[in-house]
Formats: sequence, structure tokens, C-alpha cells
Amino acid sequence: MIKHLINGKHVESKEVFETINPATGKVIAEVASGGQQEVDAAVAAAKAAFPNWSTMEVKKRSQIMHKVGELITKHVPEIAEMETNDCGQVIGQTLNALIPRSAHNFHYFAELASHMHGETYDSDTGHLNYTLQKPVGVCALISPWNVPFMTATWKTGPCLALGNTAVMKMSELSPMTVTRLGELLLEAGVPDGVFNIVHGYGQQAGEPLVSHPDVRAISFTGSTATGNHIITQAGLKKYSMELGGKSPFIIFDDADYERALDAAIFMIFSNNGQRCTAGSRILVQNTIYEKFVADYVDRASKLIVGDPLDPNTIIGPLISKAHYNKVTSYIEAGQKEGARLVLGGGTPQVADKFKGGFWVEPTVFADVDNKMSIAQDEIFGPVPCIIPFKTEEEALQIANDTPYGLSSYLWTENTGRVLRLGKAIDAGMTFVNSQNVRDLRQPFGGTKGSGVGREGNHYSYEVFCEVKNVAISYGNHRIPRWGV
Ligand code: NAD
Repeated sequence: MIKHLINGKHVESKEVFETINPATGKVIAEVASGGQQEVDAAVAAAKAAFPNWSTMEVKKRSQIMHKVGELITKHVPEIAEMETNDCGQVIGQTLNALIPRSAHNFHYFAELASHMHGETYDSDTGHLNYTLQKPVGVCALISPWNVPFMTATWKTGPCLALGNTAVMKMSELSPMTVTRLGELLLEAGVPDGVFNIVHGYGQQAGEPLVSHPDVRAISFTGSTATGNHIITQAGLKKYSMELGGKSPFIIFDDADYERALDAAIFMIFSNNGQRCTAGSRILVQNTIYEKFVADYVDRASKLIVGDPLDPNTIIGPLISKAHYNKVTSYIEAGQKEGARLVLGGGTPQVADKFKGGFWVEPTVFADVDNKMSIAQDEIFGPVPCIIPFKTEEEALQIANDTPYGLSSYLWTENTGRVLRLGKAIDAGMTFVNSQNVRDLRQPFGGTKGSGVGREGNHYSYEVFCEVKNVAISYGNHRIPRWGV
């Protein structure tokens, strides 16, 4: 039984739900299903823990955060396997990339917190002003299922290191590893109540959390629809919204073709296409278009689909039956809309023990018109759309013709074009001649339907800190003498 973590204790609920291994469709654990009562208890614990945690010596708090990073590193194989079983990410990614990187989220923000500083400035009126970055208080951390442990640490690291306390609600589809994170935080010396977890569904557990009057800030990662809804429930809270994407991956004919091909495959088929920054719209210049489509299909057809615990596997299952239905409905829609299905579209051959899982073949659409639903909507599966273009102007127009603005990828050797498009693409991030390579100093976040705010580096202060200004008069500036 996976339980809540409230005030340092594992807590059950009357209601439970089941978490399923998406590769087999079999139940792997029962999970306590929380609601208003559990949220109230968790927020009260976080509120009570805030005064001591926020005033703890920064050096001591940073040491504890480093210790969390060390414990994650020590437990990488165990957490990676748990994550693979709970959400279907292949072990090659969880073991070698995502879980090790999660440890770094704690080391990095432990350092950042210990180097935090404000501004001072003198004013003509004879005031010295200084700013303080104060922790906000109790934060709601809400996470989706696609990279659960990484996302949980990406939120918890800065939130706690900067002196806040937290209540986390992980997606009901991937509750296992965050529970392990809670245990490691306690083992590292994080006091009871500083980090709490309430498991449950969005409406029952998430909604009371985001609307709770004692929650001061919300760090949300999830779909654009839920993000929009949460904003209406949040009232006057600080928030950061990391939402969906439909990122353009633009390849000009002067690009390093082989590297662009490698990256175009990686950016949609890693994590089974279930990544917010997926390069899901591949825009290819007409002069290399037909060759690219043929080479792309050849490469995609060789991707190994199957057992997520096999280190050679590239593509695992989708997270759930409902998500499988969504992805396959787009595969049908693409064909009805007139896109050319050049690979896949069906169910892959998998071993008998995986027959109950949620599998789709790597699927490629070519000759996609950017107005089609498969190019406009976030499919969130291994289904790239290849779109031809002729000129730089046309590429830019297509790239920006989307409700989203999270990431973008630009492949060209033309420096002027890099500088022009680097500025003109309406997205939070552009990677040039590269796949998505994260550095925690980069501001992460999107424009338009992809979100509000940035996290990473000092940008994380935006949601997790309040700037306080103190103005000190050191002279005899004029004060109106009324009523004398
Ligand atoms: P989702 O919006 O359905 O759920 C996300 C979380 O919100 C879950 O924990 C869910 O239980 C909770 N939730 C649902 N309704 C709620 C409510 N009314 N109040 C409070 N919480 C509520 O998203 P999902 O399907 O779990 O995740 C996939 C989405 O996440 C995709 O759109 C993907 O692009 C996005 N995503 C974005 C980023 C990013 O950094 N921009 C990263 C990963 C995933």
C-alpha cells in the first residue's frame, strides 16, 4: 500500500485506488486516495514546520539538501526500476539519465540557496534600499506522470532549499517513486512536516490543495487545460505553470544532416513521445524533404519496442488505456485529414506477458498540413508530423502557428538565420543544432498555452520567493508637516 506522507508519518485513507504497470496492464500497488481532510492535515503540518525550516541556517539547510542528492545517487538502480514499472519509461532512460539528474536538482539548488543575494541601491531622497528574497511559505507542488521522479525533484529541490515547506500531489498514474523521495528526504534530515505528500485524483486531492487559503504558491506541471483551470481556483497566490507543447523541429538544407536526423528521432521517440518538449512537428526544407522522410522512416522502423526493463529497449508503453485511446484517435484523425501515414499506426508485436499493456507502434506522418489537428494538438505519443517548407519566412510562420510555445529546435549552419529565428520563434526555449540539453542555469518554461513563468537558476525565485524591499532613511528628507 502506498500511503500519504503527512508530518513525517505514513498515513492511510478510507479510499484507495490502484496503480498499474503500463507494460502489462497489471496492478502493482494500492494507493491511499486523499481529499480535503488529508490536504488540510498536510497543509497544517507544512504551515507548522515553516517557521523553523525557513529560519534554519542556510548552511545547515543546504547540507541537508546535498544529503538528499547523495541518497538519491545511492538508490539510483532501485528508484529507476520502480519508475520504469510504474510509468513505463525505459530503463535506459531512468537508470542512466533521469534519476541521476534528479540528484543534481538537490545539489544545484543547495548551492544556489547558499549564494542567494538581493540588491541595494541609494536614492536621491537619502534612502538606502535593500531587497530580501524571502521564502513564500507553504507551496503546492503538482506533478504529471510522464517523468514523475525528475519532476518531483525539480520542484522539491528549489522549493525546500529556498526555505519553503511543501505539499506535493503527484499524478494518480505514477505515485510510487515520489513516496520513496519523501522517505529519502526524512532520512537526510528534513524535519517532519517540511515535505508532505497527498496522493489522489485531481479533483478530490488537487483542487482542495490549490484553493487552500494557507497555500501561498503553486508550482504546477501538467496539461494546458488543467493549468487554465487551476488559475481560476488559485485566487491571489503566486504560481508557475509548466504546460503542454507542440514544439517545431526545423531542419534547413544546410544543416548537419546526420546529426539533425539523430536529434529528430530522439526528440520524439524518447520517453515514448510523452515529453512536453518533444519535437513533434518536424519542419523540413523542400530540397531535402523526400530523402529525409525516407531516411527518417528507415531509422524509426528499427527502434526496439518492448520490455521497458531491457536496457536495449527504446520504446515502452503509453501510460494508460485512456492515453492509448487518445493517441490512437489522433492516428485515425491524421489519416482522415489526409496526412500520409509512412510508418506504423498499429499495435506492435510484444511478448505474451505484455499483451495487456498500452502499446502503439512508432508512427510517422508525412505531408502534414500545419492546420491539421495532428499538427495543432499535443498528441503526447510516438507520433511525429513531418511538414515541408520552402523558405525561412514560411518555416517561421509554421513554427509560430500553434497554440503552444514551449521549446523549439533549429538546424542550420547559417549564423544570420540562427540569430533571426532565435529571436523570432515564439517559444520559451530554442535549441540550435541540438536536441533538448538541459542545464539548470537555463530558464525553463513556455509562452502562450505552454505556461506562465520560468523555473531554474534564480528564475525559481519568481514562484518560490517574495521580494521584500526595505528602505532606510539616513538623512533629513522632507516629510510633509500636516496639521501643525
Ligand atoms: P494533467 O493536467 O491531467 O495532470 C497533472 C496533475 O494535475 C496531476 O497530478 C493531476 O492529478 C493534477 N490535477 C488534475 N486536475 C486537477 C485540478 N482540478 N486541480 C489540481 N490538480 C489537478 O496532466 P498529465 O496528463 O498528468 O500530464 C501530461 C501533460 O503535462 C502534458 O500536457 C505535458 O506536456 C505536460 N507536461 C509539461 C511539462 C513542462 O515542463 N512544461 C513537463 C511535463 C509534462
